[in-house]
Amino acid sequence: MSDADEDKGTTGIGTYFAHLEDGELVLEPYCGCGNQLDETYFCDACKRHCHPADILCEDQATLTMVDRYIRTSVKFRKFRAMLGKRKTIGS
Ligand SMILES: [Zn+2]
Repeated sequence: MSDADEDKGTTGIGTYFAHLEDGELVLEPYCGCGNQLDETYFCDACKRHCHPADILCEDQATLTMVDRYIRTSVKFRKFRAMLGKRKTIGS
């Protein structure tokens, strides 16, 4: 079961989990191993920096807002938004 190339698998890349809090977009970066990252994007478990490129949105409203950011903000342009739930390890 190989769903990604070895050198660019999920580990070391990570994912943002997006949700809305009082109408504000909240992004939480997670390592590919499932560890939550702080603002340094350094994973203590993997001992390396992560560069999340995917934004997983918990519902349609969040996805709509993230999509808008991607279309209007240069900072967000490299990201991909999709609907999805927090990864459950091992499933
Ligand atoms: Zn990690």
